[in-house]
Order: sequence, then C-alpha cells, then structure tokens
Amino acid sequence: MLGSEEYTKSREIWSLNCAKCGKCIQICPTYKVTRWEHLSPRGRLILSPYVEDDRELVKSIFSCLTCGICEQVCPSNVEITEIIEKKRGEYAKQTILPERHVRLLNNMVEKGNPYGDDIETMEIDGEVDVIYYPGCTSLAREREIFESTVKILKSMGVSFGIEFMYCCGSTSLRIGGDLSYAERNYRRLREVVERTKAKTLLVNCPGCYRTVKKDYEKFGGLGVRIMHITEFLSENAEMLRLRKDGIRVSFHDSCHLARHMGIVKEPRRVLSMVSEIVEPEQHGMESFCCGGGGGVRVSYRELTREVRKVRIEQFRRTNADVVVTSCPYCYRNLKNGADGLIIKDLTSFIAERLEE
Ligand code: SF4
Ligand code: SF4
Repeated sequence: MLGSEEYTKSREIWSLNCAKCGKCIQICPTYKVTRWEHLSPRGRLILSPYVEDDRELVKSIFSCLTCGICEQVCPSNVEITEIIEKKRGEYAKQTILPERHVRLLNNMVEKGNPYGDDIETMEIDGEVDVIYYPGCTSLAREREIFESTVKILKSMGVSFGIEFMYCCGSTSLRIGGDLSYAERNYRRLREVVERTKAKTLLVNCPGCYRTVKKDYEKFGGLGVRIMHITEFLSENAEMLRLRKDGIRVSFHDSCHLARHMGIVKEPRRVLSMVSEIVEPEQHGMESFCCGGGGGVRVSYRELTREVRKVRIEQFRRTNADVVVTSCPYCYRNLKNGADGLIIKDLTSFIAERLEE
C-alpha cells in the first residue's frame, strides 16, 4: 500500500531513494559550470551503483564538491554528500582514484598531512583552558591565519596552548581514504585533552571542525567543547577590543562551516563589531561553494576555476571593499582567483583591527 513503510523506507541501492525530480540539478555548482548531468547530484546518484575504472564515472564521483547545497532542496531527503563519500571509499578500496588523489593519500601515509610537507609539531606543556589546534593549511600554507589567531588569543588574555602533531584526517575521510589517520589524531588529541585538563578545543579550519566534532564521535568523542574560531570570538566578544572602520565587508560562508555545521550568525556577529556587512546573493545556508571542496581543487582544477569564477562574480556585485572568509582552504582558493578583489581570512581581518 502506498505510504506504508515498504514505500517510504530508505533503500540500500541509493539511487532508488531519488525521485528524479531534478530540483537539485540547477543548484549544483558542478552542473552549473559544465551542464553535464553526470556531474549533477541526480546524475551522480544514477551512477552510484557502479564502481568502474572509467574516466567519466570516476569524475562523476570525485568531482562532487561535497558542498551539500543539493541536500537543502531534495524532497526525498537523499543524503548525497554522505553517499558520495561512501562511494569514494568503495572506489578507493579498489584503488580506482584520480591520480593526484593517490599522491594526496600517499602524503598522508608518508608525512601525516595532505601537503606532504614536514610541518613543525607543537606540544603543550602543562595545563591550559584552551587547546588551539591550527590544522595543516594554517600551519603549512596560510601561516598568517595561525599567527593572527595567536595574536588575537593573546590580546584576549586567553589561557591557551598550541597543539599540532598530525593532520585531523579530514582530507582522507572526504576523498574516500580509511579512518586510520583520523583515528591517530583522535588518540593524540584525547591524550592532550586529558593531560592539559582543557575545557575547549579551538580550530580555524571548518574541515578540522567537522572532523573533530562529528567524525571523532565514531571513536568515542574527545570529551571537550569543540569550537570554531568564529564561535569562540562571537561568544567571547566582550574580551575583544577592536577599532571600528567604515569599510563594507562581504562574508563567504564555507560549505563545511555553514551547511555542514550550522555556523552562520557567529562570523557575522564578529565582523559587525567593526564593519558594515553586505551579503552576496547566496549566503548562509544557501552559500555557493568556492570551488575547492571535496578534493576537487586537487584533481579537477579547471572545474574549481570555473566554480570559483561564479562565486567571485557574486562578490563583485556586492561592491564590498573586502571579502572575508573563515576557512583557510576557501581563503587560499578564493585568493588564487580573486581577480582584483581583496580576500581576507577573518582572523587576519580582526587581528589588523585590534586596539594596541
Ligand atoms: S554536494 Fe554540491 S557539488 Fe556535490 S552533487 Fe551536491 S550540489 Fe553538486
Ligand atoms: S532533489 Fe533529491 S529526489 Fe530530486 S533529483 Fe535531486 S536527489 Fe533526486
């Protein structure tokens, strides 16, 4: 009988849960710039029963930005990003991966981080209130974010220590790698939390945030409050002494921070302490991806460039003086295709406006 559990239960063959209504198609960034259905959410679902070493099938699964905007409009509540990640795991088990993804996973094995760098390790000695875990991108590629965060925390008089031994494992999880890297860092952080008796673990990167807060629950959780820097600054705003300026700022919501983790008001609260905010046409939970997510920037660079162009044009139309984001990876990606716009990470933007 229609409406009974038989008809409404979730199917194990994922594509059967999709009503093929097509609502998700136009909204998908990779479809928007390619117009290929196999690079749309519905197309990806239709192809999801297959695992084959075919260039276009591999591209269909690995070119999803995992931005999650399709899930917002899906009337069948298909969890597309989760399906994509599981599917990537199936491909990875059969060692069918885009070439640069293989290198990235090898970097995780050999150096403990996706960049393959020798990132300096930092250990906390003694007890602190806050463990600051900067993550790979802030340490190895966009150092200004790490330095600005330290400057802000010092200016607020926070009792904190810096901890970095391993990558959080986010990159590996998002592209289908196994859980081992995430679990290694989980064990390390668990030990640091117990030793330092910290109450809060603070991160810059929305990828770290999601991994540490959501994925580490699979291992038992860290037993500490996990906060993104924007949440921490918003909640402790009275400890910030900032100079107001008259400039107009537009904020880019990272997919992982906004849609995946629900942090939307916090960065705006912090920015509104110093500047006027002008929103791009897609913002908050409806934000448009920067083009770099889900490992796409590593293996499908042209796709990243095209999606980024769309986002940059949305910001150009705001006539904002500065575009601010609070994701080291979005910052890095948007900056590389800024086309004359000024892009800042929220930490640097705020650090520059601290009262001396
Ligand atoms: S998560 Fe984003 S890129 Fe992936 S299918 Fe959905 S809308 Fe498209
Ligand atoms: S919106 Fe949902 S049900 Fe409709 S085509 Fe997309 S995935 Fe399928």
